[in-house]
Amino acid sequence: MTSFDDGDEQREEPVGDPRAAELAERLGLVRQRIESATRAAARSDLPTLMVVTKFHPAADVRRLAALGVRDVGENRDQEAAAKSAELSEVDVRWHFIGQLQSNKAKSVARYAASVQSVDRPQLVEALAKAVAREKDATGRSDLDCFIQVSLDHDAGAHRGGASPADVELLGEKIESADGLVLSGLMAVAPLGGDPDAAFERLAAISEALRAVHPAAVGISAGMSQDLESAVRFGATHLRIGSDILGSRPAVG
Ligand SMILES: *Cc1c(COP(=O)(O)O)cnc(C)c1O
Repeated sequence: MTSFDDGDEQREEPVGDPRAAELAERLGLVRQRIESATRAAARSDLPTLMVVTKFHPAADVRRLAALGVRDVGENRDQEAAAKSAELSEVDVRWHFIGQLQSNKAKSVARYAASVQSVDRPQLVEALAKAVAREKDATGRSDLDCFIQVSLDHDAGAHRGGASPADVELLGEKIESADGLVLSGLMAVAPLGGDPDAAFERLAAISEALRAVHPAAVGISAGMSQDLESAVRFGATHLRIGSDILGSRPAVG
């Protein structure tokens, strides 16, 4: 039997956190890439970095928050709902970036600052209803909405998103819904395609949208592989996962 109470207390503390150190290093490298790309594009506005934490544990979000990350992206409601509930005291904004079924709108409205994957009128209606309910219950703020545009819609092999032809109508619908704010556009560069061509097209679609909705200036584009190209073509938000967190664990 021992009575070294001080020693016992210290043993409870983690000796070090190699994962935190790894995240700090990888995050630093990505931040440097964003800064150089922004300089190279002669832009004065630094895009917002959203760290995509899908498939990684809530503990990583906590570590990232301690490193100054304020925006995180998730693509599945079940996972995002659980993590945001676990981390309710952590100062990060949650952004929903995945395909969203209308029946999940109610859940997403509880934790999301933005939905970046709005791609159809029914989803706008469901989100408006859910946000109104949540506003009454908790006084949440307006929900930022990005219209997800499919940049290979014509090729038929699209990775989700509305046809560019439907953007204006969706914009109207979001703008006229109480509690929803039309923030801009989101897109994923087509697999195996030229990201420059894709993001140039996205910039043109954004310009057309802004002609009608001047405040919808957001362009959420750019992932680990193509962030430089996205910054060159005016991305205001970047969604970076694997270059910061490492490859995603196998889906369980
Ligand atoms: C997973 C995901 C990302 C992050 O991609 P990485 O290649 O890991 O940086 C960005 N956007 C969306 C829509 C995603 O699903």
